[in-house]
Amino acid sequence: MPEVFRNFIGGEWVETTSGRTFERRNPANTDEVIGLFPKSDERDVEKAVEAAEKAFREWSETPPPIRGRMLQQISELLRKRREELAKALVKDVGKTMRDALGEIKAAIDMCDFMAGEGRRLYGRTTFSELPKRLAMTRRFPIGVCGIIVPWNFPINLICWKVFPALICGNTVVVKPSEEAPFAATKIAEVFAESELPPGVFNMVQGIGEEAGEALVRNKRVRLISFTGSTEVGRKIASICGERLAKVSLELGGKNAAIVMEDCDLELAVDAVARGAFTVSGQRCTATSRAIVHAEIYEEFIERLVDRTKKMKVGHPEDETTEIGPVISERQLNKIITYVEIGKREGAKLILGGRRLTEGDYSRGLYFEPTIFTEVKPEMRIAREEIFGPVLAVMKVDSFEEAIKVHNSTNYGLSASIFTRNVNRAMEALDKMEAGVCYVNAPTFGSEVHLPFGGVKDSGGHREVGWAAIETFSELKTIYIDYSGGVQNVQFKRD
Ligand code: NAD
Repeated sequence: MPEVFRNFIGGEWVETTSGRTFERRNPANTDEVIGLFPKSDERDVEKAVEAAEKAFREWSETPPPIRGRMLQQISELLRKRREELAKALVKDVGKTMRDALGEIKAAIDMCDFMAGEGRRLYGRTTFSELPKRLAMTRRFPIGVCGIIVPWNFPINLICWKVFPALICGNTVVVKPSEEAPFAATKIAEVFAESELPPGVFNMVQGIGEEAGEALVRNKRVRLISFTGSTEVGRKIASICGERLAKVSLELGGKNAAIVMEDCDLELAVDAVARGAFTVSGQRCTATSRAIVHAEIYEEFIERLVDRTKKMKVGHPEDETTEIGPVISERQLNKIITYVEIGKREGAKLILGGRRLTEGDYSRGLYFEPTIFTEVKPEMRIAREEIFGPVLAVMKVDSFEEAIKVHNSTNYGLSASIFTRNVNRAMEALDKMEAGVCYVNAPTFGSEVHLPFGGVKDSGGHREVGWAAIETFSELKTIYIDYSGGVQNVQFKRD
């Protein structure tokens, strides 16, 4: 009988009101049922929001440095459970141990950074136009925050949102992805073991359209921080717009690496291969387009194919594996559909393109790393997010054309340029429409103390780094008049 897991509400592990559950299987071996998880509905969400609301007053009045101390304790717990958490990721979402440990490191880094923020949370002081008057801003919490995350970085993304929310004095209700419920439970166990007061952190598992939407619609939830697809983000934004709740969106991408003729080719090839295929291309910042100068186009492709052929697709527990399974049958079918679309559109499939089904692969959801060349910017495989190990390579004749092609999608999350020409690199940084840009580095690899987020259909909001503090707090503007009279700038003459 599979293990049955519960929600975490008000400091207790509780069953759903309806008693319903959903099943999660290991993507590397779909015969293995990981467990049964709570299929929550509106009533469970309501209970979690109530618990978060009840805990809000005491938590919001706890001095931020003391909140920071509690985060330090959580950081210790994360370090202690590092291996166990990484193993949960391997099992639940098919990450290799190396990638899984990297994800836990990112969670710990964020915890440490936000613990330190407890002694900053800076506002500003400034001068008034009037004498004997002090003007300043201070930060205050927003209230109960609803946090909805996807499956591809289930632990990292929960932590990247929850730690800034907590340090700012908010309480949270987290709705993880139904495709990574085990990893989410494991991180909830860390919060449960910590000294956080009951109700400060709550987790409600369930299906997006049911539990997720109930959280978004709950009027007592003052902010929704959502990471996931653009399609769902759009829906969430409109619900939040209707009820005037704050919303922060981190959405999809169609990230490109521009490879210029004067670049270090070996570096560019390695960065593009890793960006496109590690984590099976399921990073929001994965490189899904390579825009390559005509002078080096043929050589780039030849080397890229050689490099990619050396990347082993396999079971994530195998230490030599670089590319694990994809997350779900649904995702696998989406990738297969896009490969067919690419072929129909006239792009040239030069590597991969098939589901792997032989031998050990037969039990899991494996797809070959896939490269299309002769891709045109107007093709769907060059414009739409596939979210799998599929790279579209495009040829350009100039830097200007490269920038034009780069900006020709509706997305704008991350971007990179490979060149040794500093002027070109600087101009690319000015012109590439993306929230996170790299020079001579892959399209992924952001750090916790800098803002993260995209432009255009990638969301337009910013989290992580100091931007997270802006997102998860309200600014109060304060004037203190010590003149003894009633003063007002509007009464003054120029
Ligand atoms: P998804 O949008 O299908 O689901 C994300 C979350 O939203 C899940 O928890 C899901 O249950 C929930 N959800 C679904 N429908 C909902 C609804 N109607 N109301 C409320 N919640 C709902 O995305 P996914 O397939 O889990 O993840 C992949 C997507 O996430 C990709 O588009 C990827 O680019 C994006 N992503 C973006 C970033 C970023 O930082 N920009 C990071 C990681 C992933």
